[in-house]
Amino acid sequence: MTMNKSEIIAYLNGQDDIGLFAEADRVRRSVFGDEIFLRGIIEYSNYCRQNCFYCGLRSGNREAVRYRLTREEIFESVEIAVAQNIPTIVLQGGEDPHYSADWIAGLIKEIVGKYDLAITLSLGEQGPEVLRMWREAGANRYLLRIETWDKENYHKLRPGRRWENRLDCLKVLRELDYEVGSGIMVGLPGENVESLAEAILGLTSLDLDMIGIGPFLAHPQTPLRDEPNGAIQLTLRTLALVRILNPYANMPSTSAMECASRGARIAGLRAGMNVIMPSITPERVKRLYNIYPGKNADSDDSEHSLNAVMEIIREAGYRRSFSKGISPNILRRHESEMTLSK
Ligand code: SF4
Repeated sequence: MTMNKSEIIAYLNGQDDIGLFAEADRVRRSVFGDEIFLRGIIEYSNYCRQNCFYCGLRSGNREAVRYRLTREEIFESVEIAVAQNIPTIVLQGGEDPHYSADWIAGLIKEIVGKYDLAITLSLGEQGPEVLRMWREAGANRYLLRIETWDKENYHKLRPGRRWENRLDCLKVLRELDYEVGSGIMVGLPGENVESLAEAILGLTSLDLDMIGIGPFLAHPQTPLRDEPNGAIQLTLRTLALVRILNPYANMPSTSAMECASRGARIAGLRAGMNVIMPSITPERVKRLYNIYPGKNADSDDSEHSLNAVMEIIREAGYRRSFSKGISPNILRRHESEMTLSK
């Protein structure tokens, strides 16, 4: 299905929420049935050399209590995923130069050598050689959210970083045959339904395998502390529109939704999302991965976190999947490449 900008804006303005959410759910069921994929997130470091205005981990936040996990602690989390039959892990962290690219490659090799897990990386912008090394070590997927499609706003909110470089990095990831994910925040200061419609069309043009979208949440230890949060209903409309335009992408109902409004993760699933990502970061540090206020605050330990997620899936009327949940998009791409090479 295609939609033009003015059609998207009409839906973003609330033209027909009931019809929009029903269509998004119909599209997700036609591709994914009633299954929800689980991804266990291991947030292994909250140090970051970047200084993004919206993020609690920004290097300029002197109040943040920082941590780094050891190899052994990371493995404890990996073993939680294995014990809980969560077939995909996400290694996520700030851009922390403490861990060398070789060290990360060694970690990936060790994990895939020992366990049958899909590995997603969410480790920020990296050069092509590093991304290649990690792919060859066994990583399957890479998440790199662009956060805004508004180039000027990007340069304001991510000092010293270039919007074009983010897009180039996404292209390199595609060339290296990662499953590629990106996404945006809804309600960033300086944005409106028009820029949001452009972001929806922009993300769709990237033909992504994974798309993550959540509301902007003002962190009290950042320069955006006094800005209003992104509206949850607008976020749900954005999710539904992106789902309709990207039927084959894996899309999470994010924890940011739940932090913005209790029950919103269920609403996200009903608006076409098919993934949930419980944190399996060790209890001693998980609340310190405070990218936005409330992150990881609702889970006492990983089992509790998984139980909470199972409850959300049941309540929303879907089923937990035990599959690795490879994106149908990358499978379709591989099939058409094989057809072309015949
Ligand atoms: S958004 Fe990412 S890159 Fe920016 S400060 Fe936070 S962790 Fe670092």
